[in-house]
This record gives sequence, structure tokens and C-alpha cells, in this order.
Amino acid sequence: MNCLYCQERLPLLKRMQGWRYCSEEHAQQDLEEFGRAALVALSVATSSQTEDTRVAPGMAQAG
Ligand SMILES: [Zn+2]
Repeated sequence: MNCLYCQERLPLLKRMQGWRYCSEEHAQQDLEEFGRAALVALSVATSSQTEDTRVAPGMAQAG
């Protein structure tokens, strides 16, 4: 098992504790990059829904 961020080999103690990174710093940096990618994916997914909600206000007034 190597660090998912820098590919450095993890010490046995960290491996036994279930670590995937050689340090907490690398874990946070990798999660930050993953979080940014997830935000981009979210904004792309929600942008297609905003077109549908544009119809909603007009329909509310009609009633
Ligand atoms: Zn690392």
C-alpha cells in the first residue's frame, strides 16, 4: 500500500491503522483536489436543472 498522493510506501503502523496516505497533510491535499473536482461535477449537473426551474415562477402566477 502506497500513499495515494505521493506514491511513497506507507509504514507498517499506518497501514495497520488503515491509512491511505503517508501523512495527514497528503490526505488533506488529495481530498481538497477531489473536493474541487466534485464541485465542478456538481455545478455541471445542476446547470441543466436551472432551465427547468425557469418555467416554475410563471406557472405559479397563472394559478
Ligand atoms: Zn504522501
